Amino acid sequence: MTQPITIALSKGRILKETLPLLAKANIEPREDIFKSRKLVFDTNQPHIKLLVIRATDVPTYVEYGAADMGVAGKDVLMEHGARGMYEPLDLNISRCRLMTAAKVDPAPTRGRLKVATKFVNITKDYYARQGVQVDIIKLYGAMELAPIMGLADRIVDIVDTGNTLKANGMEPLELIAPISTRLVVGKPSMKMKHGQIQPIIEQLSAAVEEARGQEIGA
Ligand code: AMP
Repeated sequence: MTQPITIALSKGRILKETLPLLAKANIEPREDIFKSRKLVFDTNQPHIKLLVIRATDVPTYVEYGAADMGVAGKDVLMEHGARGMYEPLDLNISRCRLMTAAKVDPAPTRGRLKVATKFVNITKDYYARQGVQVDIIKLYGAMELAPIMGLADRIVDIVDTGNTLKANGMEPLELIAPISTRLVVGKPSMKMKHGQIQPIIEQLSAAVEEARGQEIGA
């Protein structure tokens, strides 16, 4: 019997790079995701549905089994903890680095280092491992503003080209983790729907290898 499979996709920049990989694995939404306000999409394969949701919600849907599989950045998975899921494949897209950063000419720090970030759990773990006591300030966006306005001494954020930091008088300091987009599968789904999930993983893996080959050849 063909069981239904739900794949939760991260909307935003990851989605644009995910859809071509899914297409190569013969999973194509039946309508243009970018032109629709829908959240659930049928595909050319009647038993496969796509959810298009906020990246930070993807591991939650997979953790609770509301989605069988998901596509999310390693930063989001690390911050969530990725409980209850396997991570069988690095999709090798939306690559960037999770880094600490500070102003190029920082004022001397008084007392504990203040670190602004949306990655509270990752930041806590990182500084705990370094044995450094810090005060973490949770922000939801524009982390670069915090040191400029004296709200924090450091930030922990995603860095791609480094242009955003540079434009705001900041520089990257330490690498916390290289980031790329991963495929995750809920543990119960992997067990109960293995026959359908395994071929999807294999086809996506072949699509990633093909794209990697094109990258090297380019
Ligand atoms: P850049 O100026 O190229 O270093 O880009 C940095 C900004 O773009 C950061 O503030 C991030 O929020 C965002 N960004 C860059 N790459 C990614 C990615 N792969 N995933 C999510 N956000 C990203």
